[in-house]
Amino acid sequence: MDLRIAFLYPELMNIYGDRGNILALSRRAQWRGIDVQVDNVSIGIEIDPDFYDFYFFGGGQDKQQIAVSDDLQGPKGDALKEAVEGGAVILSVCGGYQLLGKYYRPFDGDDLPGIGLFDAHTEAGNTRYIGNVLIDCAIPGVGTIVAFENHSGLTFLGPGCAPLGKSIIGGGNNGKDGTEGAIYKTAYGCYLHGSLLPKNPAFADHLLSQALARRHGPVELHPLDNSLEQLAHTTATSRARETR
Ligand code: GLN
Repeated sequence: MDLRIAFLYPELMNIYGDRGNILALSRRAQWRGIDVQVDNVSIGIEIDPDFYDFYFFGGGQDKQQIAVSDDLQGPKGDALKEAVEGGAVILSVCGGYQLLGKYYRPFDGDDLPGIGLFDAHTEAGNTRYIGNVLIDCAIPGVGTIVAFENHSGLTFLGPGCAPLGKSIIGGGNNGKDGTEGAIYKTAYGCYLHGSLLPKNPAFADHLLSQALARRHGPVELHPLDNSLEQLAHTTATSRARETR
């Protein structure tokens, strides 16, 4: 088996340890004897919707999101949507998540159009949500997810997508409705930096098995020794409880 990963806009949308998600997913595949190919896909590079199994789209400041929003309009955004309809997995964090929705309205400046993969929109508030977060994930078998957030954007979900989970600690999507993130088919959005996957192995394996299933059919991942990951999860969780 092999896994094809596209790292979207690594030089523009990659903050608060986001690259660690690519490393964690790659290692968890390689430790199971699965070959991994990681390609950087940035401004001006076209996407073949049938090629990649997994896309990672990290966060970025308003300034970086302007060029990325522009690049995603038209064929590139359509290819990403077609890829998800074909079973490819997308994990998007914060600024990336916002641009997979309908639009992002920064505090200053013009609206940044998204691609409307998520039935959601985001408007910057005058409060930044910064700190450790803990959520109760809606995906069966995942349990809690612990991470870090830093955003001014407030995201509101429409009926066309479901929350990734409920906020236990942290602002989540908008600091009001108690939701965190979004799920549409095999596309995932969240405000979870940190990086996310190294200390949340159950969620990482959920994404990995879904991404492999696209070309290889249902995959039963053999268990790994997650003792270090679990220790990181528990430590970060107690820190989140202490600090917020
Ligand atoms: N610029 C966006 C905001 O402030 C996203 C920030 C981020 O990706 N951490 O909400």
